[in-house]
Amino acid sequence: MSAGQHTPPTVRAVWTSNRTTWRINCPHCFAVHVHGPQVGHKVAHCEPGTPGKTLGYVVEAPADQQALGEVTR
Ligand SMILES: [Zn+2]
Repeated sequence: MSAGQHTPPTVRAVWTSNRTTWRINCPHCFAVHVHGPQVGHKVAHCEPGTPGKTLGYVVEAPADQQALGEVTR
């Protein structure tokens, strides 16, 4: 991979109102997608066949809370 290389964008998650899942504002299709509270690369919940669906994104934990299993102290 050289020219035209794609790196998945990083997005910061926000807790949903019930505090059990994360939502992200999709950088590909600009919809809101909901994921389980785990950081790392995700397959985007975009429409099948779109570029975002192939590339996905890297989800970061919400600023106000650690991810499950990611306690650092
Ligand atoms: Zn999307």
